[in-house]
Amino acid sequence: MRKNGTLIILSGFAGTGKGTVVKTLLETYGDSYALSVSATTRSPREGEKEGVNYFFKSEKEFLEMVDGDEFLEYAKYVDNFYGTPRPYVENMLSEGKNVILEIEMQGALDVKEKIPEALLIFLVPPSIKELYRRLKERGTESEDVIRKRLCRAKEEVKVISGYDYVVENDDINKCAELVHWIVTSAKYQARYASLQISDLEAELEDHLKGDK
Ligand code: 5GP
Repeated sequence: MRKNGTLIILSGFAGTGKGTVVKTLLETYGDSYALSVSATTRSPREGEKEGVNYFFKSEKEFLEMVDGDEFLEYAKYVDNFYGTPRPYVENMLSEGKNVILEIEMQGALDVKEKIPEALLIFLVPPSIKELYRRLKERGTESEDVIRKRLCRAKEEVKVISGYDYVVENDDINKCAELVHWIVTSAKYQARYASLQISDLEAELEDHLKGDK
């Protein structure tokens, strides 16, 4: 029977630890997952690598990719563009991998509209106090950028109910395990089984034709 991988969208306020949860998922269950690398117009942070963390683009290059319909989705987030290159996602899904998109909410909801069987998971911090502490401790953003990101979180919180699951990230390992469990069990939901159902239908038809 054919089986496509699941498209998983992982979102969460800046500083919730999405990146670390994804890293843990890949380290623990590596064979089942593929991580899509996005393009962005944001400048690289210290230690970030081209093609690993992001494909870093100028605004002109990014908008040319938009014109060329090269993105599955893209969005503007706090002064910069971010987008998911389409070919990698499509290839990995057809190879049966669970493809993770670590993207913000606008892009996530766009993907859900185009691909209704995508699984949307929103990670939340144990508290906003803890979120602020993590953002300060990360030390990669100025107080002004942190504030902009928290303002964005205030908008995002209104749309979380459009996601399929909300998972608290208190302990990284537990959170990654829970996400893996959700992905695994979601595969068995009838709404994700359209391929199997159409295969069964075709087989039934063939079988009954043979009976005549
Ligand atoms: P950061 O600048 O912290 O790396 O990312 C900022 C936000 O952009 C995060 O919420 C991240 O999940 C989101 N993001 C990263 N890549 C993409 C993408 O390809 N599309 C969209 N819509 N958001 C993205």
